Order: sequence, then C-alpha cells, then structure tokens
Amino acid sequence: MSTPLPILKNIPPNAPSAARTEHALFDSHGRQIRDLRLSVTDRCNFRCIYCMAPDVKYIPKMKLLRLDEFIRVIDIAMSLGINKLRITGGEPTLYPHLDTLLQEIGKMGLKDIALTTNGSRVRKQWAERWKEYGLNRVTVSLDTLQPQRKDAITRSHTSIVSVIEAIDTLRDVGLEPVKVNAVVMRGVNDDEIIDFADFALEHEIDMRLIEFMPLDAGRRWEKRHVVTAEEMLTQIRTKHELIAEEDPKASTSINYRFNSGNGRIGFIASVSKAFCGSCDRMRMMADGTVRPCLFSDEEWSILPLLRGGATDDDLRQFFIDAMWTKSAGHKMDRDDFERPNKTMSTIGG
Ligand code: SAM
Ligand code: SF4
Ligand code: SF4
Repeated sequence: MSTPLPILKNIPPNAPSAARTEHALFDSHGRQIRDLRLSVTDRCNFRCIYCMAPDVKYIPKMKLLRLDEFIRVIDIAMSLGINKLRITGGEPTLYPHLDTLLQEIGKMGLKDIALTTNGSRVRKQWAERWKEYGLNRVTVSLDTLQPQRKDAITRSHTSIVSVIEAIDTLRDVGLEPVKVNAVVMRGVNDDEIIDFADFALEHEIDMRLIEFMPLDAGRRWEKRHVVTAEEMLTQIRTKHELIAEEDPKASTSINYRFNSGNGRIGFIASVSKAFCGSCDRMRMMADGTVRPCLFSDEEWSILPLLRGGATDDDLRQFFIDAMWTKSAGHKMDRDDFERPNKTMSTIGG
C-alpha cells in the first residue's frame, strides 16, 4: 500500500485551506481532481460511426497495462484524493481480467465506482458479482431504438433486445440508477429524441442525451451535426412535463425528472454549454497514458516509470506534474479550435 507524501508542491494559493493540508491533486487553474476515468482496453466489438474507425489500429498488447499495474495506479491516484473511478474503454467487458479488477477495486475504499459499456456482452451472473464486489453504477450506451439503425450506427450486427435486457438486468440486480447514453447526431438519430424520453419513463432509467463531440475517427464532425441540449429539451417538452433537478457541482449533465413517472432525462452539453470550470476529471488510457483534458493533446505516459522500478512517490509526483498541465477547457466555439488527434475509444469516455 502507498505511503503518503508529506507536502505537495502544486497546491495553488487559491485552493481551499482544507485541501492544502491533504494529499490532493490540483491543476494550475485551481481545480481539484477527484475523478479518474480509466480505459482498461482500447478493443471493441462495435465500430460506432461517432467513435471508432472500421479498420482501427489497436495499441500493441505489450504496451497495455497489466492487472497489477492497473491496481497500482488506482492505489496511487487514491492516495492523491481520487475518490471516484469509472472503468471504461474501448469496451471494458472485453478486458480479460475485468472480474478480478472489479473485485480488487471493490476492496480499495473508493466513494464511487462506475462502469461504461455498450451492453452487448453483459450477463446476469456478471452483473450480480459486480454488485457484490462494490460496483455502484453502470452506464450503457444505446444510440437508437431502431434495429436496422443500430447496425448502421455501430457498424455491427447486435440486437437491441439484448442491450435492453442488459439494462433491465443491471437495474434488477440493484446497479441503480442505470444510465443509458445516446449520442444524438443531426440527420442520424435526432428523430428519436422523444422516443428516448418515452424509453426512460418506461424502463425507469436515467437517459442521457449527449451532444456529438469532435472525437470521431472519421473526422467528419462539424458543428452543424450537433443537436444542442437546448434543442433536445424543447422537443421533449412538447410531450413531457419535466422538472429540473439540482445537480451536484461537478455534474457533467443537466438533469430533469418526469412529472408523470419514474426515470430521468439528462443532457450532456459538452459542446454548447461546456462544464470545464467545475471539471474534476482525469483520464488514463489502457497503455498508461494520462490525458488531463479530453480535448487537449497534452498527454503523459506512466508506463516507463511503472516498468522502470519507480517508487510510489515517483508515481505520485508523475500524477501531480501531469495534472498541473490540464487545460482550462476546450475552444470548440473558436475558429482556431483544433480537434484532438485521438478518438473517444482510445482515450476512454
Ligand atoms: N464502449 C463503451 C460504450 O460505448 O459505452 C465505453 C466506451 S465509449 C468510448 C464511452 C462513451 O463515449 C459512450 O457513451 C459513447 O457514446 C461516448 N462517445 C464516444 N464517441 C463520442 C463522440 N464523438 N461524441 C460524444 N460521445 C461519444
Ligand atoms: Fe466501441 Fe463504445 Fe466507441 Fe462504440 S462508443 S465504438 S461501443 S468504444
Ligand atoms: Fe474537463 Fe477538458 Fe472536458 Fe472541459 S474539455 S470538461 S476541462 S476534460
């Protein structure tokens, strides 16, 4: 287990006084980092049009972190104040040691452990075990409720029924609230916005409608393809009475509940209403590359340290230095905005 560092160098003068005495991760804009999004594999059984290339080149196996390395980096990150962890990918259910990883993570004392999956491979026995290990929540991606469209969006033959069964199973084993993500793209699935709201009510789940971000391998993203949260909300309100929720400060979504039943609907307005000011996230790719900001190509690899005999203090210093470089935010509204060179499947969503 890790030994705490006496004093951290990077705590900015504007940090709350409590944080100055803790072992905490701060960026140079005064934000404390508490949320780690860890991609455990860049492999996927889908090739979603907004994410992966059909002929994707995977990270070589030798460079992927081993189970013990994943556990060590999580432990180090926790000693620096990380208390929320999301396991993602690629498709995390393709990671061969997912079960053991979740079992080990469950013993580590994190406040919140979540997993994001495309839902195609979730089994009831797995979900029961995950719950038992201490997994708190699962987010499932489902971008359409129309079978043929699903094949076109995911560039694969997958049954919507099996994904809906997975959603119901996860809810029934108590991994609640199940969140279901849909990336809404103009001309692709924007005619289903009200259907998604109906689906949330019917299945009593949290539906999250995400603005399409410039992270697609095909580099086809254009601003005109983005359906804004505002536009989606207006459409849903033509059918449902929605009540605004009070969201936590670091929430990525703007959430509403239905007046007429259970289930919620939320909007991730990453493009039109960026939430960078309260961003407390860092991402680590499956090869140990730390990406402080989703939309900045600034990134740092922990792999040489991990495999070169670095001490726990060396690894802590690595995180401290890496996170200091986190961008203030993205510049999608500016003409000089340059899209990131990696896709969401590699960085980890
Ligand atoms: N394979 C899993 C899945 O699809 O849920 C986990 C990884 S995936 C990269 C994580 C999330 O990123 C998914 O909810 C997906 O919809 C979202 N995502 C991927 N590319 C995106 C894009 N260009 N814009 C917005 N969201 C995107
Ligand atoms: Fe795979 Fe998820 Fe990307 Fe789709 S969004 S290609 S399921 S990683
Ligand atoms: Fe956080 Fe960067 Fe995303 Fe803004 S663009 S919310 S700073 S990761």
